[in-house]
Amino acid sequence: MSSPDILKAAKLLQEGKVVVMPTETVYGLAANIYDAAAIRAIFELKGRPSNNPLIVHIKSFEVLQEVAKNIPEAALKLARHFWPGPLTLVLEKQDTILDVITAGGSTVAVRMPNHPIALALLQETGFPLAAPSANPSNYISPTSAENVRKGFGDRAPFILDGGPCEKGIESTVVGFKSDGVYLYRHGAITKEALETALEGLEVQTLTNETASPASPGMLLKHYSPRAKLIHTTDVEQQLHQAQGKQVGVLSFRTHYSQPNIAHQLTLSPSGKLEEAAQGLFNALYELDAKGLDIILAEVFPEEGLGLAINDRLRRAAAE
Ligand code: AMP
Ligand code: MG
Repeated sequence: MSSPDILKAAKLLQEGKVVVMPTETVYGLAANIYDAAAIRAIFELKGRPSNNPLIVHIKSFEVLQEVAKNIPEAALKLARHFWPGPLTLVLEKQDTILDVITAGGSTVAVRMPNHPIALALLQETGFPLAAPSANPSNYISPTSAENVRKGFGDRAPFILDGGPCEKGIESTVVGFKSDGVYLYRHGAITKEALETALEGLEVQTLTNETASPASPGMLLKHYSPRAKLIHTTDVEQQLHQAQGKQVGVLSFRTHYSQPNIAHQLTLSPSGKLEEAAQGLFNALYELDAKGLDIILAEVFPEEGLGLAINDRLRRAAAE
């Protein structure tokens, strides 16, 4: 990545435009958090419902105080431990944070991304950037510049190409209440890692349903390919039922040998969840380009990063 491109992106942002930046999780559609028209342009381009708030990306701990206040000790502890990194903290917002960003709420979601290009861009602009994933609402999150282009076509804004994303899955979203720490969204940092950083304090999980008022983006349907996706513990049985259909298989480590598989992707033959998470969305883009009737996606181990992977696949399968 040449710095002229970063300077160009920073200039576009200063002019109130939207640009695409790479982060370690997925590609983000970024705009100046203090420019209401630019933020509205993000919602418009994505077709994102206005009740789904955005994550504010910051370059340093000083800027955290600029966007949030009354920050709980547990939040500071997590930030010190995981930032820059794929952890988003939901905190009480400063008065200067626009309602379009928080969907009118009193909290703001914040994170410091761990990507040299995103950090250089934040440094160059001087203002924090709101950045949801760079895909049309409800479609698969992009982990490469190419997949951003697939999603938006000729409506794609200027893209900073940082190659494939290291984590490949979105940030873990955490909130704080008087009675403790809550997990709003499974993501690239596991619940166990959060609890270790909090020296054993238990992190409670909010299910999709209970999280809805607290974190509207947890609405069930998301990440949906055009093909019908079935999330299953029994791929062979589903293959049997799908005779005569064009079927794709997305598996963790197993290679299936049934003859009626049109296309198959195995995310980590050696069984590494990090590797599977990294390749997950790209595999969904690849399978969805094959014009399949059905994608059969295995249920991953319900532990560690497998929880975040299953969450995405469950929502990709939702009607
Ligand atoms: P995305 O940027 O598309 O990965 O989505 C951001 C996620 O963070 C969504 O699930 C949002 O609902 C969640 N989020 C953003 N701001 C807040 C907030 N103030 N309170 C709770 N959840 C939030
Ligand atoms: Mg998203």
